[in-house]
Amino acid sequence: MVMSALVRVGECNGCLGAASCCKFVLLAVHHAYLEPDKRHWLEIHGVRLHESGGLVWARIDATCMHLTDGGKCGVFGTAERPQTCADFPFVQSDINLVDEWAGEKVCSYSFQEGI
Ligand code: SF4
Ligand code: SF4
Repeated sequence: MVMSALVRVGECNGCLGAASCCKFVLLAVHHAYLEPDKRHWLEIHGVRLHESGGLVWARIDATCMHLTDGGKCGVFGTAERPQTCADFPFVQSDINLVDEWAGEKVCSYSFQEGI
């Protein structure tokens, strides 16, 4: 049986102005940070850990300098906008993370079986 890959479907609706994924960054960190005391130390600094794709990710609140007051990308369509912005979310767990961060279902993308 051939397994089809999951493909991203949908379009970015900017979280209806909330632009959630423009307000934090994800950094891969050593799995040693999962140790309860180290994890607690990160959490009291406002850093949350997530496990995805065999890696541990630190989610750090940090709003992009190009996000406008109206919730739009100030460099959309220019070379200044990182390709990462267009490619995110990469996997379903990215969507889950955004939704968890926002406290509700916000990301308009989903992942479905490809053909
Ligand atoms: S460059 Fe634009 S899309 Fe990317 S994080 Fe900043 S505001 Fe958001
Ligand atoms: S979280 Fe999803 S819908 Fe919201 S701005 Fe990012 S990609 Fe767009």
